[in-house]
Amino acid sequence: MTARVGIPCSLLYFLYYPTWKTFFKELGAEVIPSGDTTREILDLGVKEALADACVPIKLYFGHVQVLIGRVDYLFIPRVVCLNKETTYCPKFLGLPDMIRHTFRKIPPLIDVRMDVREGWNALAKAYEQAGLALGVPRGTIARAFRKAMAAERRFFSLLQDGWQPLEAMHILTAGTPPHKRKGRLVFAVLGYPYLIYDQYISVGVLARLKKMGVEVITVENLPLRALYRQSVHLDKRLFWTLGDLVMRAAHYLFRHRRIDGIIHLTAFGCGPDSLVSKFLEMTAHENQSVPFMSLSIDEHSGEAGIATRLEAFVDMVCRKKEVCL
Ligand code: SF4
Repeated sequence: MTARVGIPCSLLYFLYYPTWKTFFKELGAEVIPSGDTTREILDLGVKEALADACVPIKLYFGHVQVLIGRVDYLFIPRVVCLNKETTYCPKFLGLPDMIRHTFRKIPPLIDVRMDVREGWNALAKAYEQAGLALGVPRGTIARAFRKAMAAERRFFSLLQDGWQPLEAMHILTAGTPPHKRKGRLVFAVLGYPYLIYDQYISVGVLARLKKMGVEVITVENLPLRALYRQSVHLDKRLFWTLGDLVMRAAHYLFRHRRIDGIIHLTAFGCGPDSLVSKFLEMTAHENQSVPFMSLSIDEHSGEAGIATRLEAFVDMVCRKKEVCL
């Protein structure tokens, strides 16, 4: 019987789903994603997760809950470090444990540890463990890993071409790019991928901006090498991979001034963001020629509030630039 592997559509799903899907499909498994976020999924997560967890973690719990009973395995990797320099936030490190100890009846977890600081082939070894958990021979796993890495390269090159993750996933499966419109204003929306690309939890910020005629770029569209070279004027590098990238992206954009505005989307209850947001505000204060706004998202964020703030920000930038959308 084909093993059904469930993948929660939250957290690193937005960056690594094409990799994971290719890998498990090549192993002969059926990949079952939990689907787009809905109010029901969020409510399930809020009910199960610790009250003081950040909203993306609560949401992840909801995505896990909808997969329980529908799959034979849950793929919940312990992603520690993928760049040899920074680590993912502690919530990522403890994710499989939190899930295991919250839900009573869950399918077996494939909870391999991904930490590339453990050696040049640490990632391949992690995927090998994932394949062995399904009882697949090593040769098949090695082939699946190579194909998964090729899918990952294709996906990331689409992001570098200016597509956003869900658009890039569509291109990979449908083969045709969605319609793209040039805007008269270009904004950067900075934040964690699982916040800004999740249409429900972000209250559709990207789609709303596009509808208002604003072209949007995100961290994933920026050249990674340039970001890693970017100085952020701190004595010490930030520990957390995603927060570090957001900081670098903001400094890169403020310095190159290629944009008309920057919006920082931050998660209520996020420990790293309490620091990142403060640093970004200070950087914005020093670079006042680029308008900056910070939006905090929580499980109660209402459409009307977010829409009003976005419209006011776009309106303010239009007046400043003397542009009509
Ligand atoms: S970085 Fe912040 S939002 Fe993301 S999982 Fe960690 S605490 Fe939550």
